[in-house]
Amino acid sequence: MSALVLFSGGQDSAVCLAWALARFDRVETIGFDYGQRHRVELEVRRTFLGKLAATYGPAVTRLGRDHLLDLSVLGAISDTAMTQETEIAFNASGLPNTFVPGRNLLFLTFAAAVAYRRGIKHLVTGVCETDYSGYPDCRDDTIKALQVAVNLGTESRFVIDTPLMWIDKAATWAMADDLGGNPLVDLIVEDTHTCYLGDRTQRHSWGYGCGTCPACELRSAGYRKWVEGP
Ligand code: ZN
Repeated sequence: MSALVLFSGGQDSAVCLAWALARFDRVETIGFDYGQRHRVELEVRRTFLGKLAATYGPAVTRLGRDHLLDLSVLGAISDTAMTQETEIAFNASGLPNTFVPGRNLLFLTFAAAVAYRRGIKHLVTGVCETDYSGYPDCRDDTIKALQVAVNLGTESRFVIDTPLMWIDKAATWAMADDLGGNPLVDLIVEDTHTCYLGDRTQRHSWGYGCGTCPACELRSAGYRKWVEGP
């Protein structure tokens, strides 16, 4: 059984990668360069993959190829705070302007195309609708519909796994602890990136970031809740 993990370099997808490595015989990773402001995550993800392969037991033998796709066209057609130097705000619909329309739909579709070529059945993504930014393409209904569409459109039986869908950020830290103990938690703190602004100059107990953008707020609040208990 094999899996392709959508690994951005962030905390959630890092935990999903460890989750997949504990379950599947062969695990490959895929990341996307879409002109994100926090491009630093692309450097961080390479470091993380190298260290994970050296220190996390299941990764030593099971971690396979990494695929990095150029989706700069997505940044070119998007007018969002994730892809341009714009202040993060909420628009009239209540969605934050960090929402990149079509992002997860494209990511999963491209991941399925790579998985098709590589003979991989499972696609693993860290989307979550419990403790999230309100992005509609992270919702369970969206993912289930996409699974049906991708399978119909490729005459395949892909399974899209979303291990974080129904847990909050504190539980995501707890999952990392269960999977790999302190070494994995420390690796996630040190070598994953979440901050929308790409800030790696400030080091907190939960990792690097500006500390105030919505992504930093979610990550730090989850960490505090996990350490201190509910
Ligand atoms: Zn931040």
